[in-house]
Amino acid sequence: KLAAGEYGAEQPGRVVAHFGRTLEVRDAAHQAVRCHLRANLDGLVTGDRVIWRAGQEGSGVVVAREERDSVLTRPDARGQLKPVAANIDQILIVFAVEPAPYANLIDRYLVAAEATGITPVLVLNKTDLLPEDGGELGALLERYRAIGYDVVRTTTANEAGLVALRQQLAGRTSVFVGQSGVGKSSLIDLLLPDENLRIGALSEDSRKGTHTTTTARLYAMRQQEVADGELIDSPGIREFGLTHLSEAEVTEGFVEFRPYLGRCRFRDCRHRAEPGCALLDAVEAGKIHPDRFASYRRILDSLES
Ligand code: GDP
Ligand code: ZN
Repeated sequence: KLAAGEYGAEQPGRVVAHFGRTLEVRDAAHQAVRCHLRANLDGLVTGDRVIWRAGQEGSGVVVAREERDSVLTRPDARGQLKPVAANIDQILIVFAVEPAPYANLIDRYLVAAEATGITPVLVLNKTDLLPEDGGELGALLERYRAIGYDVVRTTTANEAGLVALRQQLAGRTSVFVGQSGVGKSSLIDLLLPDENLRIGALSEDSRKGTHTTTTARLYAMRQQEVADGELIDSPGIREFGLTHLSEAEVTEGFVEFRPYLGRCRFRDCRHRAEPGCALLDAVEAGKIHPDRFASYRRILDSLES
């Protein structure tokens, strides 16, 4: 038993949610502990791996943050990028048969995901609405598979519809992003059926506060057939992908272009109509799909306007 001001041994934990300087930390046994922060620590986000020490009455103090594998950022009101979640393994970009994605929407999301260094995965939802032959969307997703992306098909309309998704989520920390109406809430409701898992004791208190709706929360999935996984979710995270990108990020974000970058005749080649452009040659030779190249151009043009 610890006396006032006394703390137990250092142990690992993971930030589940934060409310100002109060953190909800999950210990190795998946128990929630309310922690405060050592004065010299700041800017911890959901998903951070931390070292904490137990104090009195189920509370604790976080004394250190472990290095992050990855971080998801969002611009704040002044346009400055702020971390919102850490240690994410994959960004699940959700699309649907209805509303169908517009021409370069998938590419925009992929570019934004590539800029974070976190692996993007394409999820086509509402496959119950897909025509027998897969339709145009089916063919489109095969193209992304050929580039090297994982593509998962889902439907919330039947039991078998989430089997592939559960496999993809197993043992990893994931976020769901995608335009409104594609079925993110429906998918997450099925993955996290237990309301109690979703609304923890700490967020209950803080619902009266101002932080609840915007901060991200880490959810543990208890999967029966495959390994467990973690989801980090918030309204802000779901809107990821609509942030500003630099020209270099856009170019690097088309992963199949990478072998050709730096090989153009002119070092400042803008890949428009220059002679000896390695990218244009690769399109010509069928190594880069013309639609992906057109999409690249369209995204670059949208940065200039
Ligand atoms: P969100 O905005 O991305 O969170 O999308 P929602 O989860 O709110 O879903 C939007 C609509 O699509 C709702 O009416 C859902 O019932 C419906 N929906 C979700 N998943 C599927 C699916 O797999 N098939 C069909 N047909 N409808 C779905
Ligand atoms: Zn070029």
